[in-house]
Amino acid sequence: MIPFNIPAVTGNEIKYIEEALYLLKLSGDGVFTKRCHEWFELNFLAEKALLTTSCTHALEMSAILADIKLGDEVIMPSYTFVSTANAFVLRGAKIVFVDIRPDTMNINEKLIESAITKKTKAIVAVHYAGVSCEMDEILRIASHYDLLVIEDAAQGVMSRYKQKHLGTIGHMGCYSFHETKNYNCGEGGALLVNDERFIERSEIIREKGTNRSKFFRGQVDKYTWVDLGSSYLPSEINAAFLYAQLDMATNINLNRLASWNHYYSGLLHLQKRGFIDLPHVPSDCEHNAHMFYIKTKDLDERTNLIDYLMKNEILSVFHYIPLHNADAGMKYGRFHGSDLFTTQESERLLRLPMYYNLKNSEIEYIVGLIERFYQKKFLY
Ligand SMILES: *Cc1c(COP(=O)(O)O)cnc(C)c1O
Repeated sequence: MIPFNIPAVTGNEIKYIEEALYLLKLSGDGVFTKRCHEWFELNFLAEKALLTTSCTHALEMSAILADIKLGDEVIMPSYTFVSTANAFVLRGAKIVFVDIRPDTMNINEKLIESAITKKTKAIVAVHYAGVSCEMDEILRIASHYDLLVIEDAAQGVMSRYKQKHLGTIGHMGCYSFHETKNYNCGEGGALLVNDERFIERSEIIREKGTNRSKFFRGQVDKYTWVDLGSSYLPSEINAAFLYAQLDMATNINLNRLASWNHYYSGLLHLQKRGFIDLPHVPSDCEHNAHMFYIKTKDLDERTNLIDYLMKNEILSVFHYIPLHNADAGMKYGRFHGSDLFTTQESERLLRLPMYYNLKNSEIEYIVGLIERFYQKKFLY
């Protein structure tokens, strides 16, 4: 059986966790958390990086920082994970969903402007599969209407847009280190704060609404409750595990990209014959091989292919039932304009096994099965 995902393990996780144990400080913001923060600030040129307990929590922090209030509107694609929307709904926002581009599955930047109203506060750019949204255009619209841009870069760690790392381009960026993501610590995330105006408050929100970070730096002589907040910082054990992955980030990235390219070249002839569509990476984007997906003709064909792969011990998965069709999506959001691609393209998309150290022989086996599936179907 070839699983869909195996969480990356680099070999240094236990060693770093042991080091954390010897330091006798296991709660957050110890040595390993600082190392992780510095890693992102140095390698990604992030203004401020803060580890969080998940990307969901980083998104919640961004919603508090954006000062989202009852009745505010937030624009995002409907083809995304629930947390992208929930984080803002928790603050009382109405979600305005905009259709995606079929080529990247990202929000169609050309449709954003017409979705803006007096109530709009923010645009959330979700970088699907680690391929960047059209950020120049999104930033241009945002600055024209004085809106905030929050990047849901859960899948985009190590990816770039015009040389800039995803997560460092908007006012804030959110990462996930869930075990299904490229770099993981089981459950974890980070908030990147790229606008100085939000830095001080981000530390307070993350520390239960207290100015404890300032206290530890000696900037105040006692710490107290100063703002909204919650417990958004992970333990040193998680940070130590994560640091072992960041240490090997280039290696993991190259390994995944090699697998991605192996799939791509193996399946290219099926795209040329018109049987399937392969992912598109625009020229301004360097992706991180977060996932490899194909698109079948329609939902029926996808269901049959999943069954066929399953019979041959391959786990392939689809995801994201569009949020605007879900019960909560209908209650808390509305779709602006028409759903030309969100539903249709989501029903065609199929994710193939993709993880660190996936073997070429396994990829070739999977590619061979997909070829056979289409051979049987069309007898070419
Ligand atoms: C995984 C994911 C999240 C949630 O990440 P967690 O760390 O599990 O909270 C949010 N948005 C997108 C696009 C994701 O892929």
